[in-house]
Amino acid sequence: MHRIRTLGLAAVVMAHPALAQAPAPSLPYKIPILQYHLIGDTDSRWKRSHDGFRRDLQLLYDRGYRPITVSQLLDRQFDIPPGMSPVVVTFDDASPGQFSYIERDGKLTIDPNSAVGIWLDFSRRHPDWKTRATFCVLSGANDGHSFFGDTGVAGQKSAWRLPKVRFLAQQGFELCNHTLWHARLDRQSDAGVEEQVSRGDLAIDSAVAGYRVRTFALPLGLWPKHRALARAGTWRDPKSGRAVNYRFDAILEVTGALQGTPYGPGFDRLAIPRTQVIGDNLGKLLDAIEPRRFRPAAARAAGPR
Ligand SMILES: [Zn+2]
Repeated sequence: MHRIRTLGLAAVVMAHPALAQAPAPSLPYKIPILQYHLIGDTDSRWKRSHDGFRRDLQLLYDRGYRPITVSQLLDRQFDIPPGMSPVVVTFDDASPGQFSYIERDGKLTIDPNSAVGIWLDFSRRHPDWKTRATFCVLSGANDGHSFFGDTGVAGQKSAWRLPKVRFLAQQGFELCNHTLWHARLDRQSDAGVEEQVSRGDLAIDSAVAGYRVRTFALPLGLWPKHRALARAGTWRDPKSGRAVNYRFDAILEVTGALQGTPYGPGFDRLAIPRTQVIGDNLGKLLDAIEPRRFRPAAARAAGPR
């Protein structure tokens, strides 16, 4: 039995300690909210190379950024060292390059070249780089984009799909809904939109029972005809006859802008722009937002509101 939107969050989901909520910033800051798709051998428009991704993490770390999830941003839970700045890293489309297993002698290990493998290795060497990122997943897409690979795509077995999703939650990563199979929501009927989104939530719930999905990423950044359906809706599962309700606290868009995400008064959590990391644009983005960079500890010292 699926339980959607129950309040009984599994303890594993709350892997990070509950922190006192920081006050809202009173200045228009900028935060980098990054977007990755494929992780592979080479760099291209939609793909980041393994080495490029490693360099990105090092660059962020060296520039004083530490990762938080979208949910932490919403809750202003900046569990990062004083003086550091938050960065939100998001992964879309649940490809095997983001999270793959290698099986040897019946034993599974995380592929050290997958994004999760690279991230965990970086965290081991830099303990204040925590396992905090947001994975916007597809659960029923083709070509291995179903919970990080199935039916042998890139060597990934279907049986590994739910354990991968569960592992991410246990580590403190956030699970975000990116619909069932990445349908263009602008071309769907209202009922089609609600089915795509509901089934995404339902699939996450089947991996982590009771997980409250708070963040939704629009496929291709395209809004449904009725924008409100991206935030909340209902779908009746014909198999069980049960109604599935979804309601999100944050909606992620797609943008190529190198301006960072405005953060401060008027921060619109229901239309959050992100920057896709391509080529050497990460350094340029960090340069661009430096004058308005957000440091939660400093903002707190400036006075609560
Ligand atoms: Zn996508």
